[in-house]
Amino acid sequence: MHSPNALENHIKATALQEGALLVGFTKIRRVDPVILLGFPFTDQWFLKEPLQTALMLGKEYSVSKHVQDVIAKKLRAEGYTAYYKTVLSLYGDFRPLAVSAGLGQWGRNGLVVNKDYGSGLLFAALFTNAPLEPSIENQQQGCQEHCTSCGQCIEACPGKAFTNNRFHTYNCLSYTMKGCAECLRACSKKTSIH
Ligand code: SF4
Ligand code: SF4
Repeated sequence: MHSPNALENHIKATALQEGALLVGFTKIRRVDPVILLGFPFTDQWFLKEPLQTALMLGKEYSVSKHVQDVIAKKLRAEGYTAYYKTVLSLYGDFRPLAVSAGLGQWGRNGLVVNKDYGSGLLFAALFTNAPLEPSIENQQQGCQEHCTSCGQCIEACPGKAFTNNRFHTYNCLSYTMKGCAECLRACSKKTSIH
């Protein structure tokens, strides 16, 4: 059986090798360990490019399910429980857990921003009783400062939704209904994952 440290390292290495972009650990209610996984996603708004977006969603679902199957199998073989929710889960919004696990920070565009991959990310979660410790390991050091000095999403916004350091939902709404995703696209330009 792996020591807790060796198990964490094994899970990280396996997840990255099998197709995840990001891996981190956190705990729900500060007690129950969760493995958070990040996968690349398009910066196209679904209603604007439905076919392309659906195809990419299908591909990332398969990759994420594969990664989670491999990790769950390993955890169960070590005697731990393991169940997971994929990137298509209706269970909930994994963004707060992703931030807690160090996969990104809340960005000025209202999404989770990773300093290397921007906001074009999907998150999946695997729940276990294995002794995994939260791992905020400086993955996001400098991300918030970068976000503060960047402002590309604000410049790109045609609806001026970020005026006066506040987010104006109504300014955004009329543009999102027409398929606007300029704030996501501006942030995702930092990456080469598409
Ligand atoms: S575009 Fe820049 S300011 Fe906007 S969320 Fe991304 S990193 Fe932050
Ligand atoms: S979706 Fe468009 S209008 Fe809304 S905040 Fe983003 S860029 Fe601005």
